[in-house]
Amino acid sequence: MFEQFLKGKTAIVTGSNSGIGLGVAERLGRAGADLVLNSFTERDEDHALADRLAAELGVRVRYVRADMSKAAECRNLIRQTGACDILVNNAGIQHVAAIPDFPAEKWDAVIAINLSSAFHTTAAALPMMREAGWGRVINIASAHGLTASPFKSAYVAAKHGIVGLTKVTGLETAREPITCNAICPGYVLTPLVKAQIPDTMAKYGMDRDEVIEKVLLERQPSKEFATTQQLGDTAVFLCSEAAAQITGTTISVDGGWTAL
Ligand code: NAD
Repeated sequence: MFEQFLKGKTAIVTGSNSGIGLGVAERLGRAGADLVLNSFTERDEDHALADRLAAELGVRVRYVRADMSKAAECRNLIRQTGACDILVNNAGIQHVAAIPDFPAEKWDAVIAINLSSAFHTTAAALPMMREAGWGRVINIASAHGLTASPFKSAYVAAKHGIVGLTKVTGLETAREPITCNAICPGYVLTPLVKAQIPDTMAKYGMDRDEVIEKVLLERQPSKEFATTQQLGDTAVFLCSEAAAQITGTTISVDGGWTAL
């Protein structure tokens, strides 16, 4: 969809060497955008991934290491790229524990990576978007930005926070050709979610299929995972002219979760 209409634009996607970030980057690349992939690692395979996508999509793709738990590295990622027409704040981690047992350092890490990083990247990107006369900020929030689950205090707080940040960014840019929106996915079968399966199997004495159906997809009425491609296409839509008046809001891609 939307063949090549992002040609000449640069998209920076945080946390994009796997999962949703990679899926979103790939779709933006298919629509013609040059890409900056990011994570906190500096491995040959990170750069090989960028080279493979460049060859496949026919756009420029760079991999830039930056740790989204560190304010200065968030801002440098944007500034050193030199152009940022589309910013996708996607990097995220999860930790599951009851509040009294939730390690303080895990709370700090989840808030830093899932929420504060988006503040720092957006602060660095908005002046560049204003200079270019166009911009899109897309925050990957979650159904947990609109609802809560027990044992995910930091994640739910961060995701509600990013929905709030989305509204403020939308208001601060409302008179400009810049929009900011949050995509709120339900469950997507990425490494982040796969990593939760063994613990849940042990906790409830279930096999893998039971965990998927009875725990992960319990609140997803469609009983299907959302896909990274669907999220990527939603991001591409938000970059289109059709979405120019959509700002400061959320789009759920959650199989009906938040309708319950
Ligand atoms: P994932 O683990 O596959 O990807 C997370 C990405 O973030 C990876 O590329 C990882 O390297 C990167 N990352 C982690 N810590 C980082 C750091 N300090 N600095 C830079 N990058 C870092 O997970 P995912 O499921 O693709 O999650 C992506 C986003 O989507 C997250 O914000 C997550 O909360 C959100 N989300 C996921 C789901 C789901 O079901 N998978 C649902 C709703 C929202």
